[in-house]
Amino acid sequence: MEIFDSHTHINSAEFANDRADVVARAQALDVTAMLVIGYDEPSALELEKLLQQYPQIYGALGCHPEDSAKYTAVLAKQLEEQLQRPKMVAVGEIGLDYHCDVDHELQKTVFKQQIALAQRLHLPVSIHNRDAFTDCYEILKDSEIGRYGGIMHSFNGDWEWAQKFLDLGMELSYSGVVTFSSAKEVQDAAAKTPAEHLLVETDAPYLTPLPYRGQQNEPGFTRYTLEFLADLRGCSVSELAEQTYQNTKRILKINE
Ligand SMILES: [Zn+2]
Repeated sequence: MEIFDSHTHINSAEFANDRADVVARAQALDVTAMLVIGYDEPSALELEKLLQQYPQIYGALGCHPEDSAKYTAVLAKQLEEQLQRPKMVAVGEIGLDYHCDVDHELQKTVFKQQIALAQRLHLPVSIHNRDAFTDCYEILKDSEIGRYGGIMHSFNGDWEWAQKFLDLGMELSYSGVVTFSSAKEVQDAAAKTPAEHLLVETDAPYLTPLPYRGQQNEPGFTRYTLEFLADLRGCSVSELAEQTYQNTKRILKINE
């Protein structure tokens, strides 16, 4: 069995002391492939090392909406150059975060600029959407995102929103959030998401799934979210692992 963690940050400082152990522990839980997201200079450097070291680690880079003010012409050019390197398969995470204290108009401008960048490079996008469903949807719709596709990272909406994003040609990636007993609407969406558009992720070191909630998250824990989803959807774990693995490869255009 092979599981693909479609969104993780093992390049971040939280894993500085045990990165190799974290990858080994993930492999022991059958989490053999990962999309690692870089969001600043140090995390991009670590990502570069991981891409060279592990055949089944792939990369994405983007300016997180919280950092929209840092998206200068210089950074845009640097990102464009880095995204053309081998094993860089997506632009992200990009999007809107209305929970944070960054001007909404600025976030929207930077989001649109990075979608344009992804489309110039023919790359899919990994989308961060927090408390910004309507604007996020409108921007993705206007940009005809379906051409190169994308992933709603840690999708946390209800089935109505799920259908709207699916209609745009987006994939829905579920994180540990779906395992929380308070997340009934997300569970409903996850139960109804068509199998070929369902992905799984950790967003490690954040969003730890049950039964490890409270502990630092790591890619291996994708396994527990996958087990929860298989139970929710009434299918076998190995079947869902295979389906989500193939889905992730398809959207990221990975041919191993
Ligand atoms: Zn993330």
